[in-house]
Amino acid sequence: MVIDHGLDQSPDYQEGLPDERGRFGRFGGRYVPEGLMAALIELDSAYEQARADEVFAGELAELMRTRIGRPTLLHQVPRFAAQLGVPGVTVYLKHEDAAHTGSHKINNALGQGLLAKRMGKRRIVAETGAGQHGVAVATVCAMLEMACTIYMGADDMDRQRHNVVRMRLLGAEVRAAEMGNRRLKEAISESVRDWVAHVDSTHYLFGTVAGPAPYPRIVRDFQTVIGVEARAQVLAAEGRLPDIVLACVGGGSNAIGTFHPFVADPQVRLIGVEAAGHGIGSGAHAASLSAGSPGEMDGSFSYLLQDEDGQIAVTHSVAAGLDYPGVGPELSHLKETGRIRYAAATDALALRALQTLGHSEGIIAALESAHAVGHLLDMADRGELAEDSIVLLCLSGRGDKDLEVASQRLGLG
Ligand SMILES: *Cc1c(COP(=O)(O)O)cnc(C)c1O
Repeated sequence: MVIDHGLDQSPDYQEGLPDERGRFGRFGGRYVPEGLMAALIELDSAYEQARADEVFAGELAELMRTRIGRPTLLHQVPRFAAQLGVPGVTVYLKHEDAAHTGSHKINNALGQGLLAKRMGKRRIVAETGAGQHGVAVATVCAMLEMACTIYMGADDMDRQRHNVVRMRLLGAEVRAAEMGNRRLKEAISESVRDWVAHVDSTHYLFGTVAGPAPYPRIVRDFQTVIGVEARAQVLAAEGRLPDIVLACVGGGSNAIGTFHPFVADPQVRLIGVEAAGHGIGSGAHAASLSAGSPGEMDGSFSYLLQDEDGQIAVTHSVAAGLDYPGVGPELSHLKETGRIRYAAATDALALRALQTLGHSEGIIAALESAHAVGHLLDMADRGELAEDSIVLLCLSGRGDKDLEVASQRLGLG
């Protein structure tokens, strides 16, 4: 199958563009200090020029093919599907776990890295939580010969030593964010501060579809390659579109990247799966769309988890990549229009799904992706899955990074 990775492949590409203030419906925008505004506007116009440039699209497509391994495979998991206990159900996994560095994060890192280079920047700064985005960015900087500084919360560095080592092996400088809770939020603040101080030479490579405009749209476009490929692959295999498309939601980038080419197909149900942690009722979760309310965080207006005083809540998920109190504005907008439905899977359900997929198919999913797999099990258990359904599920990453957590939680060690 030949798949062109040009940026304009989505059948409804022109739909879902933010307005001139960077808003999707009432969500998004740019809630940033004056010092940042000029940099965001420069980025926005550079991106518009790059999108219209065939040389840029061609270079990106070539690197996606040769360095990331795109198109990633889509294949059926019949033994797993049999476990659902619903006759005639076909499940396809879109294998972002097979992308270089083990998840979808490299799609965005490569796209923005190339954009930064086109803008004449020589240096990248980025935040990272558990380290997966930092590793993808460090990888791209090595490929594109750019200097790389990654900010990581000091506590996260202690917890994720192996990713710190990976980033340093890739030639990145890893700097500890020592303030506050010493976690992702502080790493974002440090990255922004660095960017503002060195904006002439430096691009801030943000990791998901949240943050101020134009990031939600840029990251979405670079991740839409997932859905464009998967849509063509399902059509080639089945001669029709899937009935249900599932993806996990942290900030929302693998979800919107998978969903976007299906938004204009009303017969396709789109379901985003958040982290319910210990359960929504426990308060220890990260389900911003399912249980949060709109507010302003990280430069954007969107659903988030906050207390009555507007303080950002402390979140919990067994999956580090879902453990974020906010979500991208486009996902909030598509919640309000009703086009995307959101569900939440608990830690326990994700761990059950991890084992079910491993035992039946020999695939160790990332704990994040296991939330989407878990919700599919749950739909079958509840009788919400019709016979003969075709299901497409984005397997956003591989589980090697989660072995320690899985071993502790499942007593495998
Ligand atoms: C980071 C990560 C996620 C969550 O990020 P999104 O922006 O919501 O896609 C999901 N899966 C994996 C494997 C990740 O590394």
